[in-house]
Amino acid sequence: MDKFFVLKNGDFNTFLNKISLEYEVFFPVKKGRQRFFKKFKDSTAQAIVGEVRPFEPLKAFFSRAREWVAENFSGDAPPANHKPYAIVGVKACDLKGFLIQDFVFKNKDYNDPFYIRNRDKNLIIGSDCTCAIDVCFCLALGIQPYPERDFDLNLSTIPGGYIVQVGTNKGEALINQNASLFGEATAAHLKARDDQRTQTVLAVKDNINKYQIPTQDKFKGIIERNFNGKIWEEESRTCVECGACTNICPTCHCFFLYDQKDEKQMARMRVWDSCMIKDYARVAGGGNPRKKLWMRLRNRFEKKFDFFPKLNNVYACTGCGRCVIACPAKIDIRKVLRRLVNNA
Ligand code: SF4
Ligand code: SF4
Repeated sequence: MDKFFVLKNGDFNTFLNKISLEYEVFFPVKKGRQRFFKKFKDSTAQAIVGEVRPFEPLKAFFSRAREWVAENFSGDAPPANHKPYAIVGVKACDLKGFLIQDFVFKNKDYNDPFYIRNRDKNLIIGSDCTCAIDVCFCLALGIQPYPERDFDLNLSTIPGGYIVQVGTNKGEALINQNASLFGEATAAHLKARDDQRTQTVLAVKDNINKYQIPTQDKFKGIIERNFNGKIWEEESRTCVECGACTNICPTCHCFFLYDQKDEKQMARMRVWDSCMIKDYARVAGGGNPRKKLWMRLRNRFEKKFDFFPKLNNVYACTGCGRCVIACPAKIDIRKVLRRLVNNA
């Protein structure tokens, strides 16, 4: 939708207060050098709407790291104990993760009731990145550092406030309900937005040039060509099997179910799982098709750069760079991709 409005800085928290009547609102704040989603409670906390993606991936709102999925084996989902979420300041790299998460949890064969409950009722307010950190490489995956789809509203930082772009009818209804807070967006406002976008694009391009990160047009066949290469053993040597790379990734989605009981009741829990962990693929009887670490690293890259593009025409990486920061072994996806493309 090409509908744009202007929201002044001074009206931003008023808008969040209005939204919070209907939604549980989360917005990005800064702690040290990192950004985190924080629950919006009052009008004093400082939102970081621009800058780059928060530390935690967006998926954490939709399939929780640990959640209760059935009680007393009734098959009934425990009721939601919160208002629908409104997540403010969502970046394009996290929105792209929906292409994978939706494919897994909301498809013609399977509809996950917990995921859908959160996903369908929520409000997504995206925002443009206004800079790049060293690990950002979204452009290599064909993603601009500003949202182009999958948002209800999007905020672009301009001097004195934000340009608000409408993405859905739900977003437009919110603007209409709070019309006194929104002004008309002029050509000068849109130019300020475009100038900022150009600067951010240049910052991401600098990263791509600096680290010689290959772009997705070179990814076709990289796994097949390197399937039996030494790269997997060499790159996995320092891996400590912590699972941080998959937990922090906005596209990874594997989970594990287990049962728990106390004196009164039983509960079925779901927790995030990681294909990097040895027992992930172990089956009854002890057989394991991916016993070695290098096999698991290869599997992780195969899923992202071979399996999902073949299945759903999308690479399961958004260039967010979180796994580069999270990996204690310094296994760097940018370097692995470079080696895969160069057959090195
Ligand atoms: S693989 Fe790494 S860079 Fe790609 S989306 Fe996942 S965390 Fe981000
Ligand atoms: S974060 Fe690094 S060390 Fe941990 S499992 Fe992933 S690749 Fe291995």
